[in-house]
Amino acid sequence: MSATAKSPWIIHYDASSCNGCDIEVLACLTPLYDVERFGIINTGNPKHADIFLVTGSVNERNGSVLQQIYSQMPEPKVVIACGVCACTGGIFRECYNTLGGIDKAIPVDVYAPGCAVRPEAIIDAVVVGLGVLEQKRVSLASGTLEEASLPSRLTAADKMVADQTVRASALAETIG
Ligand code: SF4
Repeated sequence: MSATAKSPWIIHYDASSCNGCDIEVLACLTPLYDVERFGIINTGNPKHADIFLVTGSVNERNGSVLQQIYSQMPEPKVVIACGVCACTGGIFRECYNTLGGIDKAIPVDVYAPGCAVRPEAIIDAVVVGLGVLEQKRVSLASGTLEEASLPSRLTAADKMVADQTVRASALAETIG
């Protein structure tokens, strides 16, 4: 196991969560869960981070912020979607300004569902993420790591057209 996998540094970003999932992320740092004893450090600098932990869904404003933070992180790196909002858009999915889960803006390696996501699920996702990080590190060392491309960003207008298309086809099926 590499030094990175033994002591991964994490950057946490609140995309547009209700703060429920963020409180659970903070709970991981409290003495009860105390992830620092496993060498997991919470950093504020994307250039120092190995794991990008995101809560909340994507909208037109924060999509480019997510992409900027992701782009500043050095390879190898892993993205974890924390909570159902980050995974799919969750309860905000149908809001006019919500484009969906964070995979609408950046590539996601691990999905940790839950509303709010439990600290145990966050720690479990980090452990799974460490396996992915190690695989990427080996690929990077052998020169075979393919840089993940950023998804082209969806706009609210795109989403509206897509929603209308889905509704129109559902209506056509109902009418027969
Ligand atoms: S998954 Fe639930 S707790 Fe987490 S940000 Fe969304 S609504 Fe809030």
